[in-house]
Amino acid sequence: MGSEEETKKKNEVFDAEAASLFVKELRGTFASGKTKSYGWRVSQLKSLMKMLNEREPDIVDALRQDLDKPELESSIYEVALLKTSIKSALKELKHWMTPEKAKTSITTFPSSAEIVPEPFGVVLIISPWNYPFLLSLDPVVGAIAAGNALVLKPSEVAPASSSLLAKLVGEYMDLSSIRVVEGAVAETSALLDQKWDKICYTGNSRVARIVMAAAAKHLTPVLLELGGKSPVVFDSGINLKVACRRMIMGKWGCNNGQACISPDHIITTKDYAPKLLESLKNELENFYGKNPLESKDLSRIVNSNHFARLSKLLDDDKVSGKIVHGGERDKNKLRIAPTLLLDVPRDSLIMSEEIFGPLLPILTVDKIEDSFDIINSGTKPLAAYLFTNNKKLKQQFVETVSAGGLVINDTAVHLAVHSLPFGGVQESGMGAYHGKFSFDVFSHKKAVLSRGFIGDVPVRYPPYTKGKLRL
Ligand code: NAD
Repeated sequence: MGSEEETKKKNEVFDAEAASLFVKELRGTFASGKTKSYGWRVSQLKSLMKMLNEREPDIVDALRQDLDKPELESSIYEVALLKTSIKSALKELKHWMTPEKAKTSITTFPSSAEIVPEPFGVVLIISPWNYPFLLSLDPVVGAIAAGNALVLKPSEVAPASSSLLAKLVGEYMDLSSIRVVEGAVAETSALLDQKWDKICYTGNSRVARIVMAAAAKHLTPVLLELGGKSPVVFDSGINLKVACRRMIMGKWGCNNGQACISPDHIITTKDYAPKLLESLKNELENFYGKNPLESKDLSRIVNSNHFARLSKLLDDDKVSGKIVHGGERDKNKLRIAPTLLLDVPRDSLIMSEEIFGPLLPILTVDKIEDSFDIINSGTKPLAAYLFTNNKKLKQQFVETVSAGGLVINDTAVHLAVHSLPFGGVQESGMGAYHGKFSFDVFSHKKAVLSRGFIGDVPVRYPPYTKGKLRL
């Protein structure tokens, strides 16, 4: 049986044996040097771009099936952002691949030094369901640009997107170097049993621990893109209307709160809370109407498990009576309206885990500075946001709050700025990507020092006489 046929058959039951066969084939391709060439990298990035240009309607359709994601959101966050990544990689690739000259030391004089980026080899990319195209293909762009062969494992929780990704990669990409394996825990476990040269995992921190333990067996480096409870601090004295609109877009305008950098909760002062609440309610109604369960501009909850999880947060006894806006649910249509809760206890369920949905608690403090202590008392979030006009408060925020990224006077938009690294810290992740950082995270930076034969100083050689020590 030929190797391609063999692979096809094995993929019907994707176990560790099938996974090992996949990796073996990809290792063969990588060893041939094919993926290292500038030409291959460019051709694959261009194929990816062609795929997005030609198949955007199919992508929008798959996202409708999986999440009822509004077309505009799909076009901007899943397709246009990817195109920007590819364009920047195509434009900068030569420069990124060029070895970087480094300074040398007097101890090696005369010599020259450079840092040569080289691909890790064969990498595994495991992606989640919420932005199934962006979060699958954006790491793929980095892995290709850096010259790696790869396997992509999309999430089974977004089945239409996963199956379309497998189909499109089969049609557009070089299958000797880039493969998609569909599946859930069993298939991912079979993949994780293999030796990889880098693993990129995007998802929750429980599974990240499984991924890291599997990687540790082979000392495989990991890029972990996780989540957390990203807070938004509202100071007074701001343009409240603009602030609320920007906050709403980062929360409900991003997959109805099912986004890793979605605002998880608000912190404001007791005095300012009523004004803020009023403005939020007005803008929510302006955006999504009086009956948001019917709005075409909000994604639905991905499945009944996540609907039940979010319902449990709302039904917790500790938050009964705390809903000040929204709260409507439709179990059959998997819809939950944008919901605001005021002054929920810090030990309630909703404040104990990442919400990842359309619910938004508002916590109040006496002084706005106290909000930074609340943030720093929890695990480090993927993002933290502050709305303020106060320069001192802004400086204090940047100096004292630790999170993957900070945004002042907006939410979630840092994701689109490719000159900034995107990633978490501690519980919210490890490593970062986007733009040049994507190339770097999938490359080993090889230190190369080069010398000639002149300038050989005898003092370094034995015998180590006392006279040499005095030099
Ligand atoms: P998910 O359920 O789709 O899981 C992610 C991936 O892990 C999937 O491919 C899945 O098959 C795999 N997986 C699940 N259980 C596994 C197991 N036991 N062993 C091996 N693999 C397994 O997605 P999710 O975790 O629900 O995603 C939501 C989380 O991801 C949130 O915490 C969110 O904040 C985070 N997230 C982070 C980013 C980021 O860029 N930092 C982006 C999106 C989501």
